[in-house]
Amino acid sequence: MEEDPAKYAGEIDGRQSDEEVNRKMNEKLTEFRQHLHSIPELSGKESATAEYLKAFLQSCNPDDLITNLGGTGIAAVYNGSITGTRILLRCDMDAVPVCEQMNLPYTSTMDGVSHKCGHDGHMAIMAGVAKWLSENHPPTGAVVLLFQPAEETGEGAIRVLKDPRFQEIIPDCVFALHNLPGFKMGSIILRDGIFASASRGMIIELSGSSSHAAEPHLGRNPALAIARMIQTFNDLPVSDDSMNNIAIVTVTHVSIGEPAFGTSPGKGRLMVTLRSDNDEAMETLSRWLEDNARGIANSCTLDSKISWTEEFPVTENSIEAADSVRSAAEYLGLEITQPDDPFPWSEDFGHFTMKYPGALFGIGAGTHSPSLHSPEYDFPDELITTGVNVFRRIIEDLLNSTTT
Ligand SMILES: [Zn+2]
Ligand SMILES: [Zn+2]
Repeated sequence: MEEDPAKYAGEIDGRQSDEEVNRKMNEKLTEFRQHLHSIPELSGKESATAEYLKAFLQSCNPDDLITNLGGTGIAAVYNGSITGTRILLRCDMDAVPVCEQMNLPYTSTMDGVSHKCGHDGHMAIMAGVAKWLSENHPPTGAVVLLFQPAEETGEGAIRVLKDPRFQEIIPDCVFALHNLPGFKMGSIILRDGIFASASRGMIIELSGSSSHAAEPHLGRNPALAIARMIQTFNDLPVSDDSMNNIAIVTVTHVSIGEPAFGTSPGKGRLMVTLRSDNDEAMETLSRWLEDNARGIANSCTLDSKISWTEEFPVTENSIEAADSVRSAAEYLGLEITQPDDPFPWSEDFGHFTMKYPGALFGIGAGTHSPSLHSPEYDFPDELITTGVNVFRRIIEDLLNSTTT
């Protein structure tokens, strides 16, 4: 694309009135978000997105710009003049494999891929924070703006954390947001403790032997075993004390043989997603599913191979970090919703909150917004300024308070 991302940077002047700054910022960052929307890329393949972000961030004068972090990730670092708390703010870069079915002027140019989780908006919010920091370096400590790849597959956070260059930016605390359809536009959704559930994908591969469809008794067809597994998984042991947490098992894919009539198949595959709001319960649930799957396979004289993928831990908010978000929202006069229970979905930001105190919070995308990952969803641009201002207030609060 011929868009020059840097052109947005110079036009947002931090010395004008707050209202004027907000208006101009939202206008420019909206264009920025919509351009990113037009070039969506799948998890781990965010190279054009990274190039666009890099050009913008270079124009925002960070003290350090780390690229290719954990793959296509980028970290822009802004240092204070005296040492202090290092805050890491994280956003996600990837799009999802969903066809865009909306007639937008900035519609996706990639077949079958679109920004239906709003990560384009999250990146625009972080770009706004970068622009503000370029004119307002923190007085103490440091702020790291992390653009993280591959959130959707649960791989990006781990890759970033394992990248040797992450040692240069080890944070004292971490923050991230996700837009949330179903909640009032611009409201803040926050919880102390567990915010989002753990999840993991289980793949069960079954091998028997094929035979002529006229002689199924001469082969070992996995169809019945798969049917039994689906039924068994559906009847979770909810009476078990360790399962008093959220425990959801969703069958996401089944395949047996080929779409033909002549052969009784010898191979089958079942894929399921497990969710729980407690890491220990997730372990119990996983063992229970494995034991049952192997038992059923054995009883049907089938070989089984079980593998796990896309593992997300729970995302757990520290009380102090959640308080920082709460006081920023209160300062800005934003409505705060505090759900009684953790959300059933997962976020790979949980890998960060496992290691560092932090908070993930939601920003309401409207009570009537289409849901995330649906073809009709589009990130509401009016949220960009709100997101920037919440992060900005968190930074001011945590870093200015340590000055003498
Ligand atoms: Zn998503
Ligand atoms: Zn998302």
